Amino acid sequence: MKKIAVFPGSFDPFTVGHASIVERGLPLFDEIVIGVGVNERKRSFYSPEERVRAIEELYAGDSRIRVVSYKDLTIDFARRVGARFILRGLRSVKDFEYERDIANMNQRLSGVETVLLFTEPHFSSISSSVVRELMAFGKDVTDFLPRRKSRREEATEE
Ligand code: ADP
Repeated sequence: MKKIAVFPGSFDPFTVGHASIVERGLPLFDEIVIGVGVNERKRSFYSPEERVRAIEELYAGDSRIRVVSYKDLTIDFARRVGARFILRGLRSVKDFEYERDIANMNQRLSGVETVLLFTEPHFSSISSSVVRELMAFGKDVTDFLPRRKSRREEATEE
């Protein structure tokens, strides 16, 4: 049975912190489905289509990663794509309390288990909201946004 995890989030925008969680999650699962959550009650900076496209471009050619937008509950989305796991990143105590409550509820309602990875320390203060704020004031945010790996970088990792 294939081990599939969903990595759900708003990803508005997808940052180097998110990319690090995906990369570190890959050895744990056969497939990661990045779920771009669409909340019609919340205004977003980038449209769902823009967010999906940006993440797809980043991982084009990697058959272990799919990008899908969803509007329903994360556990229903997980069930739809055949995932038994939810992958999330933990930056702080604040994240911990929030994640614990949701993970418990998700486990109870669906049996889907949440796998949490601690953020690498140098990414712990990076959030989509900080990146959005900087962009709104015209600051350069390229350091916070992931870029596609070149073929040479991919080859040296293998
Ligand atoms: P949400 O609105 O669901 O919190 P986000 O897009 O903000 O969505 O985050 C998605 C996931 O990525 C969450 O698990 C969050 O903790 C994690 N995450 C966000 N920023 C970072 C970071 N800098 N390092 C590691 N994980 C992160």
